[in-house]
Amino acid sequence: MTQKRLTTTAGAPIADNQNALTAGARGPVLMQDYQLIEKLAHQNRERIPERVVHAKGWGAFGTLKVTHDISKYTRAKVFQPGTETPMLARFSTVAGESGAADHERDVRGFALKFYTEEGNWDLVGNNTPVFFLRDPYKFPDFIHTQKRHPRSNLRSPNAMWDFWSLSPEALHQVTILMSDRGLPQSPAQMNGYGSHTYSLWNDDGERFWVKFHFKTLQGHAHYTNEEGANIVGQTREGYQEALYGGIESGDFPKWRVCIQVMPEMDAEKTSYNPFDLTKVWPHADYPLIEVGVMELNRNPENYFAEIEQSAFSPSNIVPGIGFSPDKMLQARIFSYADAHRYRLGTHYEALPVNAPKCPVHHYHKDGSMNFMGQQTGARDAYYEPNTMGGAVEDPSVAEPPLRISGDADRYNHRDGNDDYVQPRALHNLMNDAERARLYQNTAASIVGVDAIILDRALDHYDQISPAYGKGIRDALSKLTS
Ligand code: NDP
Repeated sequence: MTQKRLTTTAGAPIADNQNALTAGARGPVLMQDYQLIEKLAHQNRERIPERVVHAKGWGAFGTLKVTHDISKYTRAKVFQPGTETPMLARFSTVAGESGAADHERDVRGFALKFYTEEGNWDLVGNNTPVFFLRDPYKFPDFIHTQKRHPRSNLRSPNAMWDFWSLSPEALHQVTILMSDRGLPQSPAQMNGYGSHTYSLWNDDGERFWVKFHFKTLQGHAHYTNEEGANIVGQTREGYQEALYGGIESGDFPKWRVCIQVMPEMDAEKTSYNPFDLTKVWPHADYPLIEVGVMELNRNPENYFAEIEQSAFSPSNIVPGIGFSPDKMLQARIFSYADAHRYRLGTHYEALPVNAPKCPVHHYHKDGSMNFMGQQTGARDAYYEPNTMGGAVEDPSVAEPPLRISGDADRYNHRDGNDDYVQPRALHNLMNDAERARLYQNTAASIVGVDAIILDRALDHYDQISPAYGKGIRDALSKLTS
């Protein structure tokens, strides 16, 4: 094999990449050794800000194949029967930094980017159908409790449980987190959920509310806290090894893709707010509808370029898919794209991993690192409207108007909300062994927090179910006796 010639970043061949240029064999290095300066300067710039949340991640490319016909709900090209769409998945933990161990009890991010014919559709979900919060005002505070205490620089169970016990809407997600599903064995062995309510709309202008589900075809598999700790003692990279290694050996993970669909005006009738991110839509009310299969079958060539620099945002929707009044979704529509502009730069969507595979035309101009030049579709069109033949809007992709409405106000998100009923349904679903592990995991997390916080939390668990509260108390007694 003829080896390629080493060059500077400006393309000039390099004669010596081993020895610094010095004034005499024992003399100092010369400023003129630009190749050395370039090498050191690049090293200094190898890191970019890690994500504030979901910093540790694992990803791969694959395909979404639509095997069933849901075209009566949506005109989205990605959902037309038989369509195959290339996609990218990035899984992650939430709280840990980019070097954190993989096998820790935490919610997992389940972020998907579908490179559709009409633009990128990103579904930035989790391995849980709900979240800790329903109002975005609480998001920065919640994340502070998951990260390090400013004085000790340690994680603080006291802060986590103080916040959770003051936010009963978190109980549903905390129950899932402390259940078996809080520590999956690998990315392939967990479900994914879009979590938010989105909408689908069809060519007749009808809107349907929708929830997205990705059911693992590998089966669920979890570790106990002890098993997780043992694995972390051997490897901190267990998820990367499983996902990367599996795909390298031809073992391609798959998920069954399903939706739940709610007619638009049902949103005014359900006993629960269907846009509340702390609630599921019970399957008995809105059964799962089959859509297709998602398969991951290609590892990235370069982890940093394609996974670290991948940028997912709930703001990326395509014709036939719409948002919903979910307050957390509304906040993430701003927040995620803004995070990428800060972390990756103004033109983050032009990076190869983020770039759509369909034509892109817009009038955004200039900015740092604009390597794409003019994207307006015509040489002299750099403003809009114009008579220079530049790209124009297409009214045929207009979303139907929202039929539900309300007055703008700061509605108390806790009013009329039962935060106990769905954690109770989940607790009822578990068998005795699953409940015992739920109590032990919760006790292990809460042990040692201030008495006032512990009492407040236990009071909530009693309200979900006296058996739940008692189970945690008994597990705590065993831990502390
Ligand atoms: P169903 O009995 O119809 O659905 C139960 C769901 O619970 C199944 O999808 C199952 O997932 C999932 N599940 C089982 N064990 C756990 C666990 N330890 N942690 C999280 N999920 C689990 O009941 P409902 O639809 O009435 O929901 C009852 C409760 O189930 C909810 O309050 C919620 O906590 C949980 N759940 C509901 C979902 C929904 O969309 N309705 C989705 C996921 C959880 P699987 O099929 O993969 O085994």
